[in-house]
Formats: sequence, structure tokens, C-alpha cells
Amino acid sequence: MIYRKKVAIIGGGASGLVAAICAARQGISVELFEKSAKVGRKILATGNGRCNISNEHILVENYHGKNLFFIKEILKRFSTQDAKKFFSGIGLEIVEGTNGRLYPMSLQSSSVVELLLYECKRLGVSINLSCEVIKIIKENSLFRVFTESLSKTYDNVIIATGSLAMPSLGSSESGYKFARAFGLEIEKPFASLVQLVCSDKFVLDASGVKIDAYIEVFVDREVKNSARGDLLFTNYGLSGSAILDISRSVSEAIVKKCEVLLKIDLMPNLSLNELKSLLQKRAKNLPLELWLSGIINKKLIKLIANVSKVSLKNQIDTKVIHKLSFAIKNLTVKVENTKGTKSCEVMAGGVSTKDINSKTMQSKQVEGLFFCGEVLDVDGDCGGYNLHFAWASGYLAGKSL
Ligand SMILES: Cc1cc2nc3c(=O)[nH]c(=O)nc-3n(C[C@H](O)[C@H](O)[C@H](O)COP(=O)(O)OP(=O)(O)OC[C@H]3O[C@@H](n4cnc5c(N)ncnc54)[C@H](O)[C@@H]3O)c2cc1C
Repeated sequence: MIYRKKVAIIGGGASGLVAAICAARQGISVELFEKSAKVGRKILATGNGRCNISNEHILVENYHGKNLFFIKEILKRFSTQDAKKFFSGIGLEIVEGTNGRLYPMSLQSSSVVELLLYECKRLGVSINLSCEVIKIIKENSLFRVFTESLSKTYDNVIIATGSLAMPSLGSSESGYKFARAFGLEIEKPFASLVQLVCSDKFVLDASGVKIDAYIEVFVDREVKNSARGDLLFTNYGLSGSAILDISRSVSEAIVKKCEVLLKIDLMPNLSLNELKSLLQKRAKNLPLELWLSGIINKKLIKLIANVSKVSLKNQIDTKVIHKLSFAIKNLTVKVENTKGTKSCEVMAGGVSTKDINSKTMQSKQVEGLFFCGEVLDVDGDCGGYNLHFAWASGYLAGKSL
């Protein structure tokens, strides 16, 4: 009888499911362990239920982590075209949205999970649901995998347990714990793509307002990052796509206990002078109470008057126009914190990639032990980059066994 190599895959999320398919396609006997009652729970939540599966423009510049060379090597081996080919091979058609974002044609993340699961089953992958792996040890050349009720041996193990982001969707620390037990290093994890907590009353009072804004991040008074896009005022602070885009640098600074200030331009389409002229013109033509309404949200009028210490009941003169225009273009907000792991979409940090072979995803110290997905010290921007990395690293791990 021919001996079939056996692999245990820990985690039935994006990277684990792709790794399972690629390993099973080579005739390897694959057993997948998933602690939740269903696979792919996080995939279901992606892209607001539409699953922003990848991006037409996958560049290393959209990724972060200590070792960008490692990330570049992986992206070289699994491009957008490779992602499209892989998904079309399991029956999923892909369409392009704005900014190169790719989605399943159904615009339903459930179809992605269903097709990945169907392919796993078709290839004979054995899937253990509600089955949390609690320990992995190496005995001679084999790995012993422990759950609460069993322990079994395998030739290889792929750790695809994801990060701590949004534990309500199954995330856990176990991948870091397994890696540490094998002597691998962990880069300190911190929340990314996350909402920001601010306690300034004027921010909280504007809760519910959503505008297009340009935001600059000042860490200890130095500009670190900027973004343009949706800004949403909430009852805890700030959210929206522009906030998610800058959140990594804010989160990193907060972990280091630095002061973080945001300078927000509430009217990025107008220069300061253009705004002043507009206000001047309107002051001549409109009564005082209607002077600003029609160009800015009513809640923001209050906010701007408040921070610029201007009374809108008095006569409007050049000084008032200057103060208000300046406040609209330079609203300064102090960030107290991020909403943390409970609310973030991804975690930065994770298993150090200096210990992982970028061609195979195998540990350089522990032969036969592989890692893929967000458990690694790799995180991407918003726009399909994180799922792309999960598919890419899962694909390489599964193929390299
Ligand atoms: C709300 C939300 C929206 C997002 N939207 C997008 C998007 O549109 N586009 C994008 O690119 N990225 C998005 N992301 C990020 C993306 O979902 C993740 O980067 C990706 O799912 C990571 O894949 P993974 O396989 O590493 O981890 P996961 O998909 O999290 O899978 C890990 C699996 O391992 C299981 N597990 C953990 N520990 C154990 C254990 N000890 N034993 C057994 N099983 C275990 C978990 O239950 C989980 O199912 C989003 C994330 C969130 C939270």
C-alpha cells in the first residue's frame, strides 16, 4: 500500500481552507481542525458581507510588517491573476468594484465559503468542527496534535489560526502560543483597521455626521500619515474609511504611549482662500442664520463655532470668516485610544517572518511546521489586501508540503 502523507491544518478560515485544497490536490491526506461550529466565519463578515476578495493592484506598498522582502516574495508567487485562476477553478466568478477592489460576482461572501467548502469536501478533506487544537508537539519526525478529546500524529502541521482580531468571529491567541512553544519569535500584535476613541465633547456631539475629509496624523507633533475619504463622527469617537486607513499608524503610536493628534480638513475640495471667498460672498447675500447652512452639516456648524470660539449671533467680519475657515480646514482632535482587538479588522504583528521560508511558508527551525495567514507578522491596507495575503500564503503552504 502506498503511504499517504498526512497533514493537520489548524484553523478553517481563509488561509486554512485554501491550504487544505492545495494540499489535498496533491494527494495528501488532509485533516482540518476548526474551533467554531462553522468554517470561514470571518470570511462571511468581510467587505460588509460582500467579501472584498483581492485587489487588481496588489503591491508590497499596501502591506506592513517587519520583513517587506518576505511579503514581496509571496506576492510574486501568488498574484491577482493567480487568485482569479484559483477562484475560477472552484467555480467563483470575480468582478471589479471601485479602486481595483475585487468581489465575488454574487457580491455575497457566503458564496466564497460555500465554494471553498465544496472543493474541500470534493477532495476528501476531513473537517473537524467545534474542535479546538490545544497543543502541538514534535515527537521525532512526526507532530502530535491535541484537542480536548483526542491526540493524533501527522507528518506536517499548518498553523492557520489567524490573529486576535474580532474574537467574536473565532479569533484566538493560540497560533502565537503554538509558535512560541516551538521557539519562534512573535512581533508584538496590535490592532489595525480599527475605529478611534476620542473624548473631545465637540466630536461626540457631532455623532452621526458623515463627510468626505482629509486627515493628517501627528505623532508627538510630527506628521506620520494621511488619508482622504469618509469620516464618520460617532458616540465614541471617529470611524469611516479614512480613519481605518490611518488607524495602523495611530494604533502603533498609542501602543508606544505617544501623543496622537489628528488634523482634519472638513472641506478638502476648497483651499483656505477659496473657502474664505465663499464665506465672504455668502455673508453679503444671506441672513446670519442661513450663512453656513447649505454648505456644511448643521452639527458641524456648532462644532466649528465652538472650537473657533466664534459667536454666530454677532456681526460677521473678516476676522470671524478667517477664524471659521481656519477651523474648518484645521480641526484638531486628540485620539485617546483605538477600539482595540474586539473591533479591529486585522492585527499587525504576529509570528516573526524572519523564521519562515517565503517560498514554502515552512518554519526555518522546525521542519514540517508551516504557517499561513494573519497569524504571521503581515497586515495589509483596506481593499482586499488581507484576504489576498491569506489566500497567497495558504496556497504556498498547501502546495509546498
Ligand atoms: C469585519 C471584518 C471585515 C473584513 N473585511 C475584509 C475584506 O473585505 N477584505 C480583506 O482583504 N480582508 C478583510 N478582513 C480581514 C480578513 O478577514 C482576514 O485577514 C483573513 O480572514 C485572515 O485569514 P486567516 O486564515 O489568517 O484567519 P481567519 O480567517 O480568522 O481564520 C482562522 C480560523 O482559525 C480558527 N482557530 C483559531 N484558533 C484555533 C484553534 N486553536 N483550533 C482550531 N481552530 C482555531 C478560527 O476559529 C478561525 O476560523 C476583514 C476582517 C474583519 C474582522
